[in-house]
Amino acid sequence: MNLMLLGAPGAGKGTQAVELAKLLGIPQVSTGDIFRANIKGNTELGKLASSYISKGMLVPDEVTFDIVKDRLLQDDCKNGVILDGFPRTIAQADMLDKFFAEIGRKLDYVVNIVVDDAAVVARLSRRRICPDCKQSFHLDFAPPAGEKCTNCGGTVVQRPDDVEEVIMQRLQEYHKQTAPLVEYYKEKGILVDSESVNDIEQALQNTKNAIGV
Ligand code: AMP
Repeated sequence: MNLMLLGAPGAGKGTQAVELAKLLGIPQVSTGDIFRANIKGNTELGKLASSYISKGMLVPDEVTFDIVKDRLLQDDCKNGVILDGFPRTIAQADMLDKFFAEIGRKLDYVVNIVVDDAAVVARLSRRRICPDCKQSFHLDFAPPAGEKCTNCGGTVVQRPDDVEEVIMQRLQEYHKQTAPLVEYYKEKGILVDSESVNDIEQALQNTKNAIGV
């Protein structure tokens, strides 16, 4: 199955993608994670991506598509993928469509994870993450143990783009560039909605119901 999770920043795409990947036995492909790994490794791609990410802006389409294409051609992706955070623009969606057609594949479902802006700000401004195992925490609802990750013992941090000014910019980018994908995929007949409630188990269940797994 090829699945794509669509939704505003903080909708819970990453959290749900990890669980769905385990359940379906296919990898999560997160462009945000790939960029962050490159930033950490101080690569040329990382330097370029960082100049956009730190401002809450989208990395250019061609650059982003190239890394997704490479990733999709890797062996572990041959039985399906969970796309998390890609595509984020109509141009990226068109490129993916063409590429999938070329290699004889298609998106089966696009899950539109629905959340309102106020919830996004409340979630992201209090979010902390473990850079080692990617576990996500919330200072009020799912706190880490002090500064330690309850999953792997790593030191949790705040993502530099999870500060209010950048969150607002990311939301703006979402509404302007990414939200039009809802109509785009609705017209293709593959869009399903999943309400992103604060209870993570329930939110995941909503998605599982939407795709029938
Ligand atoms: P995420 O981890 O999905 O929240 O992504 C973090 C940041 O990486 C975004 O705010 C963008 O700056 C960048 N990014 C991730 N995915 C994409 C994409 N598909 N297109 C452009 N920029 C992206």
